Amino acid sequence: MTRFSGKSVIVTGCSNGIGRATAVLFSRYGAQVTITGRDSERLEVTKEKMLKAGALPQNINLVVANLTDPNGQDHIIQSTLKALGKIDVLVNNAGANIVDGTSNTDQSIDLYHKTFQINFQSVVEMIKKTKEYLIKTKGEIVNVSSIAAGPQALPMAPYYAASKAALDQYTRCVAIDLIQYGVRVNSVSPGAVSTGFLTAMGLPEQAQQKAESFIASHKECVPAGVLGKPEDIAELIVFLSDRKRSSYIIGQSIVADGGSTLVAGMHAHDLHDMLGL
Ligand code: NDP
Repeated sequence: MTRFSGKSVIVTGCSNGIGRATAVLFSRYGAQVTITGRDSERLEVTKEKMLKAGALPQNINLVVANLTDPNGQDHIIQSTLKALGKIDVLVNNAGANIVDGTSNTDQSIDLYHKTFQINFQSVVEMIKKTKEYLIKTKGEIVNVSSIAAGPQALPMAPYYAASKAALDQYTRCVAIDLIQYGVRVNSVSPGAVSTGFLTAMGLPEQAQQKAESFIASHKECVPAGVLGKPEDIAELIVFLSDRKRSSYIIGQSIVADGGSTLVAGMHAHDLHDMLGL
C-alpha cells in the first residue's frame, strides 16, 4: 500500500517540465494517472519515465488533447472515468507564456485571448466539468500558478502575469465554495524553474541556457543561486494533493521560488559591496 494507491489523478500538461515530473512522482506513490498534452511523442517519454518509476501499464491513461478545445477537455475527463473509474485529484498544470512578436503594452488582443484561454479559462472549464466527480470522491484540486501573478510587475508579458493573478483569485473563490462539499482547492506558485517553458516561447536551446544562467547567477533574481527543478514543484503539488498531509490548507497559493519574491533589486545587494568596503 503506497501513498496514492487506489487514487485516480489527472495531471494536465504532462508532456514536459513540471507536469511530467508530477506524473512520475504520482506513479512512484502508486497512483493511477491520466497524462495529457498535445504532443503524443513527448507524452510517450513521460509514460516511459512513469513505468521506470514503478507504474503498472494499466495505471497510465495517455490522452492527446488540446485543453483550450472543449472537446479536448471532455475527452480527458471521459477517458479518465472510463479507464480509471473516478477522479480523486485534478492538477491544472498546463500553461504557457505564448508569444507572437508583440510585447509590453503593445501585446496583441489575439495574444490576450490565447493567453487567458490556456492559463485561466481552461482551468475554469476543467474545474466546472470535473466538480461533480470530485465531490463524489471528496477530492483535491491543485492549480499551477506563478510568481508572475505579482505583486511585482512583469512588464514584458502583462497578459501572462494577469492570467496567473486571475487564477490565484479564482483558486481562493473556488476553494471556499467547494470545501463545503469536501473538495479542497490550492495552488502552487513557482519561480524560475528549468523546463521546456522558454523553448515553448520559441527560444533556441542556447538562448534558453543563457537566460537560465543569467537568472541563477544574479542574486536579485534568485537569492538561492540556482534555478528550480521540475521535481521541486512536483513535490509541492503532490503534498497539496495528499489529504493526510495537507488537509488544513485551503485556497492557498504556496510559493517555491528560491527566494525571488522576497527581494526588491536594490535590497539584494549589500551596502558594503555598493560602497566597495
Ligand atoms: P513546459 O512548457 O515544460 O510544459 C507545459 C505543458 O503544458 C506541456 O506539457 C504542454 O503540452 C502543456 N500545454 C500547453 N498548452 C497546452 C494546450 N493548449 N493544451 C494542452 N496542453 C498544453 O512548461 P512548465 O513545465 O514550466 O509549465 C508548467 C506550468 O508551470 C505552467 O502553468 C506554467 O505557467 C507554470 N510555471 C512555470 C515556471 C517556469 O519557470 N518554468 C514558473 C512559474 C510557473 P503540449 O506542448 O504537448 O501541448
